[in-house]
Amino acid sequence: MKEDIKTEEVSKRVEGGWAPIKKEYLLSKEELETLNAEKLQEPALEVAVERDDQKERKRGQDKRREKKMAHARNDMRNASIRLCPSVLLKGRICKFGNKCTAEHSIEKFMEQKPQDIGPECPSFNQMGKCQFSFACRFGQAHTNGLEQIEKEPDPSYKPTMNTNYSAIQIAMRKHQYDFSRADKVL
Ligand SMILES: [Zn+2]
Ligand SMILES: [Zn+2]
Repeated sequence: MKEDIKTEEVSKRVEGGWAPIKKEYLLSKEELETLNAEKLQEPALEVAVERDDQKERKRGQDKRREKKMAHARNDMRNASIRLCPSVLLKGRICKFGNKCTAEHSIEKFMEQKPQDIGPECPSFNQMGKCQFSFACRFGQAHTNGLEQIEKEPDPSYKPTMNTNYSAIQIAMRKHQYDFSRADKVL
């Protein structure tokens, strides 16, 4: 590799708290944006259902593996119903507009959603709310028809630092995160 940084330079950065990453593992800005957009679409709010036409599909005959994988991914997407997170917050508009592949009707989503697997939701019991909302497989504990229910958190509940970190993620991506405390220690 011709653009290799000198070993000396690398060890200096490691001392400063940098973790070296090989060039071939770095993502371009475009790749990162695509990934993030997919992540936003991905949820949290997904419940797999098996559709009749997929039960009959034969598997293992196609040798063109890549195509097969792409099909499989598509099948997985089509086989699950996803509730668009935008419908959970009042006044929020889905940024994918007409191209959004998730369900925007809570009513339709609930019709297709498989039965709950239990009456009590551990998140709801602890935190007084559940981020999975209608898509939660214990959803009956914190929904009433098309309404979401919230309650006081359990007295023993202590929020942890490693949730709701999207603001931190964004700040780090834009190199705006304040590392001064960490820098002092290093
Ligand atoms: Zn949407
Ligand atoms: Zn829940």
